[in-house]
Amino acid sequence: MASLVAMSARAVPSTKANSTSSGSTVYQNAATQAYLDKLNSTLAQNYLWALLGVVALAFLYTVLVRLNAHVRHLASMSNEGALRYFSKSTPTISALKSNLLYSPILYYRRAREIRFSRHVNLGTLPTRFQSTFILLLVITNVFASTWNVPWSDPQLEVLPILRNRTGTLSVANLIPIVVLSSVKNPLIYLLDISYDSFSLMHRWLGRLTILQAIAHTMCHVIMTVQQKGWANLKVSLKTEPFLASGLVATIAVAVMLIHTPKLFRSLSYEFFHHLHIVLAILTMAFLWRHLALKSLPQRYLLLGAVIIWATSRTFRFATLLYRSVGKESCKVKIHSLPGGAVKVSFTPPRPWTYRPGQSLYLTIPSIGLWTAHPFSVAWSEVEGSISRASTLRSMDEKEIMVRNKEEIDLEIPGKQVLSLIVKKHNGFTQKLWERADRSSTALTVNAFIEGPYGTERSLSSYGTVMLFASGVGITHQLPYVRELVEGYRQGTVATKRVTLVWVMPNTECLEWVRGWLQDVLSMDGRREVLKILLFITRGGLNQSIRSPSDMVQITRGRPNVHALMWEEVQQKMGCLGVSVCAGGGLADEVRRVSRVMLDRGANLDLIEEGFGW
Ligand SMILES: Cc1cc2nc3c(=O)[nH]c(=O)nc-3n(C[C@H](O)[C@H](O)[C@H](O)COP(=O)(O)OP(=O)(O)OC[C@H]3O[C@@H](n4cnc5c(N)ncnc54)[C@H](O)[C@@H]3O)c2cc1C
Repeated sequence: MASLVAMSARAVPSTKANSTSSGSTVYQNAATQAYLDKLNSTLAQNYLWALLGVVALAFLYTVLVRLNAHVRHLASMSNEGALRYFSKSTPTISALKSNLLYSPILYYRRAREIRFSRHVNLGTLPTRFQSTFILLLVITNVFASTWNVPWSDPQLEVLPILRNRTGTLSVANLIPIVVLSSVKNPLIYLLDISYDSFSLMHRWLGRLTILQAIAHTMCHVIMTVQQKGWANLKVSLKTEPFLASGLVATIAVAVMLIHTPKLFRSLSYEFFHHLHIVLAILTMAFLWRHLALKSLPQRYLLLGAVIIWATSRTFRFATLLYRSVGKESCKVKIHSLPGGAVKVSFTPPRPWTYRPGQSLYLTIPSIGLWTAHPFSVAWSEVEGSISRASTLRSMDEKEIMVRNKEEIDLEIPGKQVLSLIVKKHNGFTQKLWERADRSSTALTVNAFIEGPYGTERSLSSYGTVMLFASGVGITHQLPYVRELVEGYRQGTVATKRVTLVWVMPNTECLEWVRGWLQDVLSMDGRREVLKILLFITRGGLNQSIRSPSDMVQITRGRPNVHALMWEEVQQKMGCLGVSVCAGGGLADEVRRVSRVMLDRGANLDLIEEGFGW
């Protein structure tokens, strides 16, 4: 956009300036026309370069943030002074985080879905920063489509300009749209931005592009009607494949506009997903025909988008094959768990470097056909770590957790075992649960695994870490607890205090991770660093329970997030890393309190993981 504006500033358009791409007209002089033609022909390049500039800026910011985290990590590992130093933030940074980066669009609501009934769900709201970015994107596109259009000229002079600009931009936008749509998008790692956020941008940029495509088509239609009359519009569509193919592409994207809102996505995700792919292919095929028939240069933009899309799908397929087919095929063991969940365990056919924050796509053809569903990798263990947990049953804290560990015998000794906890909903997860529930023993089925994905953020540079989870969100947080306690024992992390706050409807949910909690509660050093606060909101607990060392507490009700966070902030133990993987209510409350703490001068980073889009 910058170069677009710079170029425009050099020109001195006449009052009748115009910008068709079809040579000079009576409305302008040849020099202005030449300049405006050039502007049109470079519009897409300038726009894409500008977007790349934004990515470069974001990358620079990410590098600085990572550098800062690295310095903080090294300085805080064994230095009380450094911990105190990093516990305070500068007012400007705090204000920026509190009022822009972490802020909900208005006052409070961000993650809690706008839901009118079980089936009428309008989804979540973007943050203030995300909305500002979306708004800037819209303004840039509107500006690039309408800048210097001589509105007072006759329609037949104005329409070609609008037609060309909106058409060109809608094709150029396909490139970022396909980049943002893929879970293989390298920007997820480079910019430390979650796939969830990129999906949001994908949807908004998609909506904008569809409106541009509709505006482009309307210009064509109005021009044809003005030149030839309504009667001949039908004839033109029949006899001119250029117009017909463009119209079909526009209709395909218009259907996308209707079927993509959360309202329809949540009714049937699989239907949405498959229809979306069919419509995308249809759009690209007819758009290609539309552009190729007149050898328009925009077809190279489309080709770029198609190549990126095909490459990312190929990489995903290759990842799936690589991860699922080794010397043996991938088999998963499924155990039914109380509380409407199942545990899925498997030994990956290929070596898998496990890190907290990872997720994968699971496909089980015998249950969900070819559909792939994302799940967090809740735990990774090898033979040694399993036996260690079962030999330490006498520890105080574990007595709260220990009931049985019969699931362990289903894991393959000596091999790496990755586990997922899947909570049932209405589709694939419901079928998975029903199959496991019907079976009296563990169910073994063939599966395909694709991953690892996820942002894999390290929390090791934070002096204090607070992990909030609700329900199955524990699968995202528990691996961090283990990593941080282990790091504390080895002296490799800056973390001196870890608090896990897990809110669940009933005590049955404890069964999902009992063995792993037991593992954590038998780790050296956990008493100095770890606090586990469990909150039961509905049933199964009559009175609060505390372990003798107060390290584990089980309480009826909901957590007082403000009191918990304020207690940690007052300790001034380094920068506070707050991570939340929870349903909307808890996530919004954690966000609100984090902003309050920032306003009080705490140095705090908020990391949000949502299980959906
Ligand atoms: C990164 C990530 C990690 C996740 N980790 C876990 C986990 O550890 N444990 C767990 O129980 N759940 C997890 N989920 C949620 C899980 O993917 C969905 O609950 C599951 O796919 C629902 O399948 P279903 O067919 O039963 O859904 P439905 O009952 O059909 O729909 C329930 C909800 O899930 C969404 N959904 C359905 N299919 C998909 C899909 N293929 N991709 C994305 N969303 C979908 C729907 O839009 C709807 O909002 C995670 C989601 C993400 C994005």
